[in-house]
Amino acid sequence: MATNLDSLEPFETDSLSNLTAGLKMKEPPVTTATNGDRNYRLEDFEKKKTIGTGTFGRVCLCRDKLSGSYYAMKILEMVDVIRLKQVEHVKNEKTILQQVTHPFIINMIWTTHDDSSLYMLFEYVCGGELFTYLRNAGRFSSTTGAFYAAEIVLALEYLHKQQVVYRDLKPENLLLDRDGHLKITDFGFAKKLTDRTWTLCGTPEYLAPEIIQSKGHNKAVDWWALGILIYEMLAGYPPFFDDNPFAIYEKILAGKLDWPRHIDPVAKDLIKKLLVQDRTKRLGSMKNGADDVKRHRWFKGINWDDVLNRRVKPPIVPKVKSDGDTGNFDDYPEGDNHKRASLLTDKEMKMFEEF
Ligand code: AMP
Repeated sequence: MATNLDSLEPFETDSLSNLTAGLKMKEPPVTTATNGDRNYRLEDFEKKKTIGTGTFGRVCLCRDKLSGSYYAMKILEMVDVIRLKQVEHVKNEKTILQQVTHPFIINMIWTTHDDSSLYMLFEYVCGGELFTYLRNAGRFSSTTGAFYAAEIVLALEYLHKQQVVYRDLKPENLLLDRDGHLKITDFGFAKKLTDRTWTLCGTPEYLAPEIIQSKGHNKAVDWWALGILIYEMLAGYPPFFDDNPFAIYEKILAGKLDWPRHIDPVAKDLIKKLLVQDRTKRLGSMKNGADDVKRHRWFKGINWDDVLNRRVKPPIVPKVKSDGDTGNFDDYPEGDNHKRASLLTDKEMKMFEEF
């Protein structure tokens, strides 16, 4: 995933603790926190390689020096989080990930911060992004698409039951684990809902009409995005696309869908029912909720209990040579060795006190 922040300074060092060495601290760094019996510290982790960049930071493969296990560490620079007005989103991400446990949702293990960065420790999902497999394959068969869609349906059903709207479904945020099952990652736009919410966020091609129209939106936006994702898996490209985001928005609002001839008619029926402009008539967001989606004919023959228990055989099994293998991820420049000194005021530091 490409970063759209030129100002994010990458770094290169063997140990995360080296990052803070030699800097004049405003406050002593907070480097310990408890997770079960283990008191993690930043210096326990050896940084191996950058495996992803998000909009506000980067994700690095790390090795725990004590256990030898591999993890993914997401590192966000606080100055960037503030400058891009993402403070609430980052806090939501942490709070929601602390609350969720699901076979198809990334497991967050620990969080901490020092005087300039926020750190989130995750299980390392070594298979890489579904995006890569989809682009390499061109498009997926109906059976392959239905396998991934089924795992996502269960994750969305679970999140929605907890009143969480995910808001960033797309192939870049779906990782394949060692066996080929999905893990949804990046909860940067996820939000616990009380009523509707109004922030314009997400990825242009996947935005529901009500987000573009600033009408206030709710869980129905995730079912819309599922419709876009199923279309993209089966066609190889999303239904509404253009180089210019505003042209994408116009196409979404116009709602005209072109159908490649090879698309399975049963899948087409489901996509049409998910891509309904009126969110009160959209499949998944009516009174039976996710059950309406699960009962659709495209999923006929699927045993949902088997799906939940990871008993359905994945169509793609990633090639993984060893635990810390990064072969399924792109290479990213590691940049220079110097971490930026904290530019935060005491008031700004306070915003992340709880992190
Ligand atoms: P994010 O900022 O959370 O969207 O992460 C950016 C990219 O880093 C993702 O698209 C993945 O390619 C990669 N990534 C994030 N979390 C993990 C993880 N737990 N394991 C492996 N790769 C990850």
